[in-house]
Amino acid sequence: MTIPISAASTSDSTEQDSAQTSVDDQCLGAFSTTAIHAGYDTADNAEACNVPIYATAAFDMHTADHGDALAAGTVSGFSYSRVANPTTTVLERRLAALEGGAEAVAVGSGMAAVSYTLLCAAEGGGRIIASSSLYGASVDAMLSFFPQFGIQADFVDDINDLEAVESLIRPETRAIFTESVANPSTEVADIPALSALAHRYGIAVIVDNTVPTPYLYRPIEHGADIVVHSTTKGITGHGNAIGGVIIDAGRFDWSQGRYPQFTMTEQVISDERNGKFYSFWDKFGFLAFIRRVRLKYVRTLGAVPSPFNSYLQLVGLETLAVRERQEVASATAIARHLSQHPRIERVNYAGLGNTGQASLVARDFPDGVGTILSFTPQGDESRVLRIIDAVHVFSYVPNIGDSRSLIVNPARITHREVSAKYLRAAGVDDRLIRLSIGLEDTSDLIADLDQAIEQAYQD
Ligand SMILES: *Cc1c(COP(=O)(O)O)cnc(C)c1O
Repeated sequence: MTIPISAASTSDSTEQDSAQTSVDDQCLGAFSTTAIHAGYDTADNAEACNVPIYATAAFDMHTADHGDALAAGTVSGFSYSRVANPTTTVLERRLAALEGGAEAVAVGSGMAAVSYTLLCAAEGGGRIIASSSLYGASVDAMLSFFPQFGIQADFVDDINDLEAVESLIRPETRAIFTESVANPSTEVADIPALSALAHRYGIAVIVDNTVPTPYLYRPIEHGADIVVHSTTKGITGHGNAIGGVIIDAGRFDWSQGRYPQFTMTEQVISDERNGKFYSFWDKFGFLAFIRRVRLKYVRTLGAVPSPFNSYLQLVGLETLAVRERQEVASATAIARHLSQHPRIERVNYAGLGNTGQASLVARDFPDGVGTILSFTPQGDESRVLRIIDAVHVFSYVPNIGDSRSLIVNPARITHREVSAKYLRAAGVDDRLIRLSIGLEDTSDLIADLDQAIEQAYQD
């Protein structure tokens, strides 16, 4: 079976009208069909059914004329794998299609995706309004590292408090950044409301959609402008590769004054020999952001994925829908079980629909909020440590979205670099345990937790 797909610009391309794969071209029907077929044509790949791993640093340019055209971007094609690689290109097209975006850039890790995106939006002295309930390394980046590059963050404890968010908007504000479903609290963000507010001021909305994956939630359909993922998690789904992706909805106007980086002329996309100088907005219009990520950030800072890791992510994507369905069902059963357990004080899982967010969850997350949950056992931190030491089926690792079920104490491991103030806002304290539910039998997972909790309270 060949899937018709128009050629995306895969070279270091600078042509204004380079053929783009639109969502319509790529949407091959329902989610799983897209996850298995989008963005790949067997006819271009020796009829190989599986996407080949193009283990090559560079590509033959054949003739001096062709080399010149490739470098000028007047023809599309591959030249060097730091800019584009055919295996990775299939992954990018597939993820763009699944998220309903116009174009994607895959990078070497989720943190590369978060960092490149926030830097690209706020470059040159901008500010970012961010939820304080974010992945630990994202908070640390904005709090103590990006300021070194002249980029400041304004944190808000409740990202759904629109008055608080609006009060932080300044002339330098370039983006509102939130996770769609927070880790580990599983609180969900109201992306339609945030987008409406941000767009009134001409500000972009950037969403880290790692926890729900595009199977459960697609922020672009709800108004977001840019989506990032740690593909290490549910997308790859087997805990066997690190990766990240940036997906651009392709509809934000970067020319309206807040973003001088998109309207200044740049050598890399200009044609000095012929005296023609362009800005990213001149050259790429509504794709200015994602092209700048590729041509400036990936090309300069270099966090490209290996073709092998892109391949593992493509294999993972094929089963994303069935894995998410099974894992969400299991997580829901486990959350219910723990909420009734006499030793458990509190369970955080917005998917139970019993929090203040019930109507928001019902409106925007009808298939579930994801495969992580967290809980607080009775007593002090010593009980947490004993539960962790007593589990057999759960693995004690700082990851989520694996086919194996995972357990961790966030305050000491995944959120260790976050200061107490931000930990509180994220709902993390020493007594919190986070679970990431995998594909083992639900009854084995519940039995494992029960025996571990029982052991932890035998004094
Ligand atoms: C894991 C994670 C990241 C970072 O991704 P890496 O692939 O580990 O670099 C960013 N955001 C969220 C929500 C994550 O869970």
